[in-house]
Amino acid sequence: MGDQHIIYMDHAATTYVRPEVLEAMIPYHTGHFGNPSSIYGIARDAKKTVESARAQVAKALGALPEEIYFTSGGSESDNWAIKGIATANRKKGLHIITSSIEHHAVLNTCEFLEKEGFQVTYLPVDEFGLVNPDDLEKAITSETILISIMYANNEIGTIEPIGELGAIARKHHVYFHTDAVQAIGNVGIDVRSQNIDLLSLSAHKFYGPKGVGALYIRKGVKLANLIHGGGQEHGKRAGTENLAGIVGLGKAIDLAVADIPGHNVKVRAMRDRLLDGVLRTIPHAKLNGHPEKRLAGNFNVSFDFIEGESMLLWLDDEGICGSTGSACTSGSLSPSHVLLACGMPAESAHGSLRLTLGDENTADDVDRVLDVLPKVVAKLRNMSPLFQNATKEEEYHV
Ligand SMILES: *Cc1c(COP(=O)(O)O)cnc(C)c1O
Repeated sequence: MGDQHIIYMDHAATTYVRPEVLEAMIPYHTGHFGNPSSIYGIARDAKKTVESARAQVAKALGALPEEIYFTSGGSESDNWAIKGIATANRKKGLHIITSSIEHHAVLNTCEFLEKEGFQVTYLPVDEFGLVNPDDLEKAITSETILISIMYANNEIGTIEPIGELGAIARKHHVYFHTDAVQAIGNVGIDVRSQNIDLLSLSAHKFYGPKGVGALYIRKGVKLANLIHGGGQEHGKRAGTENLAGIVGLGKAIDLAVADIPGHNVKVRAMRDRLLDGVLRTIPHAKLNGHPEKRLAGNFNVSFDFIEGESMLLWLDDEGICGSTGSACTSGSLSPSHVLLACGMPAESAHGSLRLTLGDENTADDVDRVLDVLPKVVAKLRNMSPLFQNATKEEEYHV
């Protein structure tokens, strides 16, 4: 691909590491590499550093530092929250409620637990991807031990009514977990007023490093360990701390929550211009997700008569990075479970394109996509017999 300028619009898959974050991390790979569990000076420094990162994460969520546990990322945090609550509370009941549009880290964990004898209710969503709080309340039984609903969807960007769902969970004395991996830095979170008992986050979705995340566990919530071993993380999550990663997570979350409205204004303006341009110039295109209750940087549009995969290859050829479905389903031909849950027919779900904008995108990037995308769609449609037939029929109807 040579020196072609890359336009990266896949921030929901991962982000670059902010220079300030990388700079903060470097010393903890070199001079300050001590094991936080050891007792000499450089180890005590390491311990102090881990604790200040813990305070940074706590502050961003409105939690207490002792409620934050470091993990290897979003997937581990989701697994721990769900399996940990299920294992520790199985005498109280075997019922778990989640939604049909969760990330696979939640969905596949729930499917695993079904094989272990738990019952899982997968709540439906409306055409915009919203969970209805009344549906949640109706699904709760005396056997329900956990509700897990994501804060914001990674494919279509829909933001769920977390405060309302949390209030229902609390009223019925059921633990409430939210996968907030996509939400950090994009929406304001306050675990106390939103009645959140457990919350998952991952640094590489907000300009931090990959392979480090955290689980917030409200004080008093009982859950079993997922990783057994040494006494790190108050005996709840074994393994020598990912020191540099934890420093990076702390710095990244501090920066991510410093100016959420400013970040959103900037990213939303670019996203809206991209969306308006695409919908104006490309026929048979439709926005997926909610028109307003969505992440500011999320663009997800279905183009009839074409394959999302082919679109991605042509865009890649032009140096534009996007995605279709979620990262995990790319490479397989099954349509997105999220779009299907929103009621979209499988044919249209195949032709979806997700572009997720971030901090470093510019107006020039948007111009370039607005120049390239209509040509790519036209080229693919010209090769599609489905499109030829459909447009012929249209002609007869006029
Ligand atoms: C990326 C993502 C995850 C997984 O996080 P990792 O740190 O990559 O394991 C979980 N949930 C959502 C909503 C995500 O977007």
